[in-house]
Amino acid sequence: MAQYRRGRLAPTPTGFLHVGHARTFAVAASRAGSAGLVLRIEDLDRPRCREEFCEAAIEDLRWLGLAWTEGPDIGGPHASYRQSGRTAWYLEIWRRLEAAGVIYPSPHSRRDVDEAATAPHEPMPEEANAIAGADAHAEPIFPTSLRPAAWDRAAAPGNVAWRFRVPDGRTIEFDDALAGRVRRTAGVDFGDFVVWRRDDLPAYELAVVADDHAMEIAEVVRGEDLLTSTARQLLLYEALGWAAPAFCHVPLVRDAAGRRLAKRTGGLAIRDLRARGFSPTDIL
Ligand code: GLU
Repeated sequence: MAQYRRGRLAPTPTGFLHVGHARTFAVAASRAGSAGLVLRIEDLDRPRCREEFCEAAIEDLRWLGLAWTEGPDIGGPHASYRQSGRTAWYLEIWRRLEAAGVIYPSPHSRRDVDEAATAPHEPMPEEANAIAGADAHAEPIFPTSLRPAAWDRAAAPGNVAWRFRVPDGRTIEFDDALAGRVRRTAGVDFGDFVVWRRDDLPAYELAVVADDHAMEIAEVVRGEDLLTSTARQLLLYEALGWAAPAFCHVPLVRDAAGRRLAKRTGGLAIRDLRARGFSPTDIL
């Protein structure tokens, strides 16, 4: 018997949804079953997100036959189902992390980091849990030499990035419903990561943890390009004293050349297929 767990669909409205999104979201909906499904629009990156893509995502998901129980279009107990409407909550989380002393202001430019950084460890193909494809949030490992020795307490993030200090050498492990046992080592697979951006917006890792916790998500279903992000997020759950949800990372859909689908959907956008006469069943 399937055990249903409350889940979420978390599209970012920077383009049209493609067949990869359809697969991940269909898996998310089926695993959530009758336990509840939240639609949350991840529109923090204001310059790149567009209302048109948000409306298109909702329409495409409905056309596919997916149904959610809370969301921006139908409401629910949360004041907003768009991340752009939830910044007070993210600031509260920033405050808790700052008070706990686990994050620090990091004024270094991307160039400083690139110059001093080492490339992240690339899993070898034979390694367990090797990721097929690029990590969505892959970034150079932040050099520990750029960590500040001391910094002033702050009442607000201000115009500087804030990073989470990772426990060097510690391996974060979790059991994934599809990827199996996953291991990522702090300082090797990923380094100190940004939780607050210098343009005074929460970073993805902070916002997603804050929301998955607040929205009582029991299982996070998403693309396998986020496996390393999950290790980062587990450190945030721990620092905040929260229980982490279960995880299910779905393989990415690739084009004929083996590249992951992105904004360049190569005609595999749900609405293109729909216009060409494919049915939701054909796509799913
Ligand atoms: N909004 C993210 C994306 O579209 C998904 C993040 C997540 O599921 O945690 O890639």
